Amino acid sequence: MTAVTDTLLRPLQDLRISLTDRCNFRCTYCMPRALFGSEHLFLPKRELLDFDEIERLARIAAGLGVRKLRLTGGEPLLRRDIDTLIGQLAAIEGIDDICLTTNGSLLTEKRARELRAAGLNRVTLSLDAVDDDVFKAINDVGYPVAKVLGAIDNAKAAGLGPVKVNCVTQRGVNESQILPMVEQFRHSDVVLRFIEFMDVGTSNGWRMDDVVTAREIVDTIRSRHAISRQPASAPGETANRWLFDDGAGEIGIIASVSQPFCGGCSRARLSAIGELYTCLFGVHGRDLRGPMRGGATDDELRERLAGIWQARDDRYSEQRGEQTARRRNEAGGKVEMSYIGG
Ligand code: SAM
Repeated sequence: MTAVTDTLLRPLQDLRISLTDRCNFRCTYCMPRALFGSEHLFLPKRELLDFDEIERLARIAAGLGVRKLRLTGGEPLLRRDIDTLIGQLAAIEGIDDICLTTNGSLLTEKRARELRAAGLNRVTLSLDAVDDDVFKAINDVGYPVAKVLGAIDNAKAAGLGPVKVNCVTQRGVNESQILPMVEQFRHSDVVLRFIEFMDVGTSNGWRMDDVVTAREIVDTIRSRHAISRQPASAPGETANRWLFDDGAGEIGIIASVSQPFCGGCSRARLSAIGELYTCLFGVHGRDLRGPMRGGATDDELRERLAGIWQARDDRYSEQRGEQTARRRNEAGGKVEMSYIGG
């Protein structure tokens, strides 16, 4: 293994792999129906990396220091036979953690067991409210809360824990849900994580005013429960960790807008068609599929991947403001979360 670092000496340790740009939800802040309706052109299947191509790039990335893989999308469980891919990824030397981020709609008891058996370690589920009306208005496909709670139980029963639940908090949309979400998951072994609404892509009409900051989230929780901040358990950790003083469990807060953590960012993202993004707020991905399908050897692909990482100087969240405006105006704009995955 030859570890690589970027221009700010950050190692490459995490690879997030988007398996598809499609999703069966139309969350208003991520894939709004007006832009992702029936006339939207999703990627044709032949464009997507196949499982062997994904495995090959993940193996090469592992050779450069990647230890952790996260499968995401779009909705990754829309990709059929995903357990075959997980089996392939689990066999890669050096990979010691494989996670999946999902909306839970396809995470049946059987599916959860199959994924675990294939080598998946953990899942993170997305749930932005416990009030059915609020949740249905956000996912915009009428999907009920109870079914996501069922998927969380399926993940726990299959041993895909500790299960994390992501809740993106938007002002005027679901900040009323902070305390109900806390009550739902206290004493449950589920790690609830509140995520500040981020200015990814260009389709969600993001405004700073819409962000419920980590400070506000903590104050809201503290209005009912005593919580204490914990030291980071790993360098480059995205969430600020908090524990309930009464032993009811852990809460995470991902403050990527109000307290950016670019300095510890060791994550690269691979789009479903094999473009490598070195920042969630990237405008341009770097194509790895072209060279791969054009016959590049493993050494050539390794060199290309290493070169992209070594040239990396992104620290978008720390420069937010000036750059937000500029990038939004660049041709094509920033890449959408549903395209490269959360
Ligand atoms: N479909 C899967 C799911 O629902 O978890 C995986 C893909 S989804 C893009 C991954 C995560 O990104 C979700 O938890 C979603 O809430 C989050 N997300 C999407 N847009 C976001 C934004 N603008 N700010 C913060 N998180 C966002």
